[in-house]
Amino acid sequence: MAHSRTVPPEALAELRERYRTERERRVRPDGVRQYVRADAEFGYYADDPYAGEPPEREPLRDRVDVAVVGGGFGGILAGARLCEQGVRRVRVIEQGGDFGGTWYWNRYPGIHCDVESHVYLPLLDETGYVPEWKYAPGDEIRRHAVRIAEKFGLYADALFSTSVTSLTWEDSSESWIVTTDRDDSFRATYVVTATGVLSELKLPGIPGIEDFKGHTFHTSRWDYGYTGGTPDGGLTGLADKRVGVVGTGATGIQVVPKLAEDARHLYVFQRTPSTVDVRANRRTTAQDVGADRPGWAQERRDNFLRIVSGESVDEDLVADRWTESAGLLEKLLPSFRRQGDRAAFEAAYEVADATKMNEIRARVEQIVTDPATADRLKPWYRYACKRPTFSDLYLQAFNRANVSLVDTADTHGIERMTERGVVVGDTEYELDCLIFATGFSVGVSGIHSGRLPVHGRGGALLQQLWRQQGPRTLHGFTSNGFPNLIQLGGIQSAGSVNYTHVLDEHAVHAAALVAAAEAKGALVEPSREAEDAWRAVLTDGAPDHEWFHAECTPGYYNAEGLGRRNGPSAYPHGASAFHELLKRWREESIDEALRARSVARD
Ligand code: NDP
Repeated sequence: MAHSRTVPPEALAELRERYRTERERRVRPDGVRQYVRADAEFGYYADDPYAGEPPEREPLRDRVDVAVVGGGFGGILAGARLCEQGVRRVRVIEQGGDFGGTWYWNRYPGIHCDVESHVYLPLLDETGYVPEWKYAPGDEIRRHAVRIAEKFGLYADALFSTSVTSLTWEDSSESWIVTTDRDDSFRATYVVTATGVLSELKLPGIPGIEDFKGHTFHTSRWDYGYTGGTPDGGLTGLADKRVGVVGTGATGIQVVPKLAEDARHLYVFQRTPSTVDVRANRRTTAQDVGADRPGWAQERRDNFLRIVSGESVDEDLVADRWTESAGLLEKLLPSFRRQGDRAAFEAAYEVADATKMNEIRARVEQIVTDPATADRLKPWYRYACKRPTFSDLYLQAFNRANVSLVDTADTHGIERMTERGVVVGDTEYELDCLIFATGFSVGVSGIHSGRLPVHGRGGALLQQLWRQQGPRTLHGFTSNGFPNLIQLGGIQSAGSVNYTHVLDEHAVHAAALVAAAEAKGALVEPSREAEDAWRAVLTDGAPDHEWFHAECTPGYYNAEGLGRRNGPSAYPHGASAFHELLKRWREESIDEALRARSVARD
């Protein structure tokens, strides 16, 4: 295969055919049903390895201004932005033992964020903090979450090790009744939900999974008691262990190099190789990022968002592989538009894509010394089919004598498990420990999965209504029949790879809605007409991604190869344009989302 910048037509035809056959090897008829929820199988949700026994406390029966469900970055930012608006009684309710959300639960060895820390960590201008690395380790990110919560006084009223079990609107008091698994039942005038997009752990439903007698855990509940060490490594408990890891996505590629350093032997069970691009992590100084200027962080993250939203900018401040390859990811973005000659555009796009993927495959060959292993590590699909990954350690790990790559594509993943280990083809791999880096139901929050029932006016169940009629919102935040309920980071808004930026814009919006309702003594509740109008905006501009996803290798982007995930559920012009739209709407039309109260506030 030629790795040049001009890919000849016969090479493109060859690639198309290879992509098709590699996809066929992987598509399974059970699609998303191949996975089971980790709580159902193993009760993982019950275990908090970091908090120990939660302290005893009396159940709460009081009233707060705002209940924020979830203490990850979404909830923290909502709390901070509400605080800026002068709202004082904000109670964050969090299942974990502290703030942090995804970064509280995920502490696996090697954990870093692959989005640049200077744009990923929110409120840098406000806190004065300047990250030390281009890509921050998980612990630095978690400590920043704590820093924001402390600065905005969110600890005072926070409830940790507590899960909200229901939200019920009470017409007579025009407030929400919030119940929890700690027997709380308190009222809140407003509820902001920030229940996350990476909170539903997923395990493959492998036959025999429960027969395995060795140790197992999911990467987001790392068992350092068993492995020893810390997120920096030093997993001395594995020195005499045969360890297996399932999953080679963004998590797997961070974990493998650390396991490789310390396990007696490591088996990496791969179904689909990731694209593994250069990461080039390095220490950075305040000077490098211009952190002496007020507003530097805001400017940098806006610049990044515009680039990855497919907009043109004069200067690329972050200048990494995300921004360099953003053009190839535009295909996935709702802002993608076919302009001019469609066939010419598609042809040019395919050449650019093939050039990039040839580079990615050439990198594997350059780094991995065993040709057979290198061959199995090469990804055969178009760049935007799966989330790209970045590492300067992962491919190198396969050059170690104690690391074996086991390709499971022909059997559509691990075939079965026995009490001794894992079976692939004719071989049983005996293991002491099997670690699942198998991810999450991405984008599915407790609200969408039904784990957190939300009852609005007249007892209507939000989940049931949305199942029957499809989601109905204004801008993704508020819904008719569910007054003073504001959903963060949800569908019918716009996402981005820099998710904390999105969450912050949503938090600003949520706080503005609360402030406007407080100022007018009103409820936040859009009309049915406003919801219909928003749905029309989403549907009219929706790009046609279906053909692209239909040709992609299976994954969570395309419902495991059986259907598309993106569609009219997102704002069609990208996150950057969505934030502009929200800002204008707040300035000109926010009163449209307000409705008179029937009950005077006490
Ligand atoms: P993913 O869902 O991305 O990956 C799961 C992995 O498990 C895939 O490699 C999948 O293979 C594999 N797998 C699933 N079932 C089987 C099976 N039966 N046999 C063999 N392999 C199997 O999970 P991640 O935890 O890697 O990522 C989840 C999310 O977290 C992503 O959105 C990611 O972006 C985010 N994340 C972000 C990071 C960051 O730095 N910003 C770091 C880590 C995660 P296949 O591909 O064939 O389905």
